[in-house]
Amino acid sequence: MPRPAFRFAPSPNGLLHLGHARSALLNEALARACGGRLLLRIEDIDIERCRPEFEAALVEDLAWLGLEWERPVRRQSEHFADYASALVRLDALGLVYPSFESRGDIRRAVAARPDWPRDPDGAPLFPFPRSAMSAAERARRVAAGEPYALRLDMARAVETAVAVAGPLGWQEVEAAGGTARLVAADPLAWGDVILARKDVPTAYHLAVVVDDALQGITHVVRGADLKAATSVHRVLQVLLGLPAPLYTHHSLLLDAEGRKLSKSIGSQGLDALRAQGVPPDEVRRRALEEPW
Ligand code: GLU
Repeated sequence: MPRPAFRFAPSPNGLLHLGHARSALLNEALARACGGRLLLRIEDIDIERCRPEFEAALVEDLAWLGLEWERPVRRQSEHFADYASALVRLDALGLVYPSFESRGDIRRAVAARPDWPRDPDGAPLFPFPRSAMSAAERARRVAAGEPYALRLDMARAVETAVAVAGPLGWQEVEAAGGTARLVAADPLAWGDVILARKDVPTAYHLAVVVDDALQGITHVVRGADLKAATSVHRVLQVLLGLPAPLYTHHSLLLDAEGRKLSKSIGSQGLDALRAQGVPPDEVRRRALEEPW
């Protein structure tokens, strides 16, 4: 058995808040409880929003909290070739296609259809079926230099994955030292997800499964807001022949209005708590006081 390995995988597109601390500290606690490794991964594929100063700030915040992680730190933007190889494999299975539609095209296509299905994050499923455009036409537009995203043909991907591995699911560990419970995956709920964006040669779902495998991650501990995405991750793991980690999706901290903490609503950062003189032990206590 490999030594258990855990990772905290923040995106440096803002400052860390207490919710990030909760995730990082739970990874630390669970790794410690089983003599496991703790890795840090910088998920900086979003070149528009990620910035080196946010990475520097998060490293400083984590060190201030007293966290220790293995070096070197994996930075996703330095590994686009790894994601490209995975795409080649999926493409060879006939499961990937270029799509040219913009967000506006998608918005307009679903605007007149209020009951159009939405994915678990609330975004409309991709409304343009692969069969609506021939492979030759897609190839022609790619060759003509039109920008395109690469999408997973989810229906075929699920069919292929199920033929290989049987019904898709994952093991969810709900408490420290607790036993795992099988959760059935529902990847079709996501539709044809993007595997490589128009502006970046990969996307979250692909990068996360490739990296978890390359880094030997055995335990993925992350917020409950990513639980549904695990369905997509399992399909990709099966198709790419990657091992399935155990998963724990912990409850999220909410603010006084019941909203999950987030950079976009200006939740107080760890830097602000630090500036107010709140000691790291108190931040640790606040981050972990809610049951997970
Ligand atoms: N980078 C993701 C985030 O900051 C986390 C990805 C993961 O843990 O799988 O939300």
